[in-house]
Amino acid sequence: MRIIDFRSDTLTQPTPSMRQAMAHAEVGDDVFGEDPTVNRLEEMAAECLGKEAALFVASGTMANLVCLLTHCNRGDEMILGDQAHIFFYEQGGAAALGGIHPRTIPNQPDGAMATDDIKAVIRPDNIHFPRTRLIALENTHNRCNGSPLTPDYMRSVGELARNSGLKVHVDGARIFNAAIALGVEVRELANQADSISFCLSKGLGAPAGSLVCGTRNFVAEARRVRKVLGGGMRQAGILAAAGIISLTEMVDRLADDHANARKLAEGLSEIDGLSIDPECVKTNILFFEVAHNDLTSQALVEQLDAEGVRTLLLGPKQLRAVTHYHLTSDDIEYALKIFRSILRNS
Ligand SMILES: *Cc1c(COP(=O)(O)O)cnc(C)c1O
Repeated sequence: MRIIDFRSDTLTQPTPSMRQAMAHAEVGDDVFGEDPTVNRLEEMAAECLGKEAALFVASGTMANLVCLLTHCNRGDEMILGDQAHIFFYEQGGAAALGGIHPRTIPNQPDGAMATDDIKAVIRPDNIHFPRTRLIALENTHNRCNGSPLTPDYMRSVGELARNSGLKVHVDGARIFNAAIALGVEVRELANQADSISFCLSKGLGAPAGSLVCGTRNFVAEARRVRKVLGGGMRQAGILAAAGIISLTEMVDRLADDHANARKLAEGLSEIDGLSIDPECVKTNILFFEVAHNDLTSQALVEQLDAEGVRTLLLGPKQLRAVTHYHLTSDDIEYALKIFRSILRNS
């Protein structure tokens, strides 16, 4: 059966040139700082994001946690969106392992937090209060339609943070999607961040790994935190080799994923019983709803699955689809045919 897997861009398999690079990677002990391939990836990442230094870590969750633990002491408060991946999907690791107090404010549909909302929750110096230390942004914003935050918005938050003595962390798991969608350099989206993380293992196709970028001093501290979390890997150059291919060969093609997501959204919007606004789809993530009396999202997911089209169930009405390297424009048309036939027969 033909399988069209929209569940996540993390399902991407390493490309032939990644496997080639991995097989031939020059390696050493990275905890000793002696893996030349890891060192090269870290230099490339820092250069690309316009930061002094970078650190290779196992996952996006580890990247965020390492950054939060580096910025904050126990009892410090971080301000973040109520839809943030850090708040929603990371087991509350910052609180569990770092004693960091999360202060959530609403995410707008475009993934931003209103700067007035941020301002309103920054704590004054008072013996009763935790100390506000950090603002955490997410770009693109996973649960907000994969929306990209613009350089203008980043600047407004950066300015607010500096005026208030706060640090800014950007969960940039899909920051390259944001840059491609907005037609800007990725460093323009990073220049307000004291720390920024991004994933190699999503749309960029690597089998594993994320990077943390920041100042040399920040990354030196982050390297200690990575070690205490058990994230000191040894001949990690095998993985970093794939990450180098991600940065050199996989960035520009993200535009195809965005075009495919838009095409899928437009097709879905024309099907009776489904609801989506294609204008909201700016990158490779789309959410749509079942608007049908006799069909739940769960039943739709199951019927699609039986036809080889895999989507992610998010709520009683909501589903998610993500486009990626293994999905072509032809796959989108094929999937839309299956959507139409299921909805026609429901
Ligand atoms: C996927 C994701 C992460 C976490 O990455 P993992 O590698 O799955 O741990 C963090 N933030 C965002 C916005 C993500 O989409």
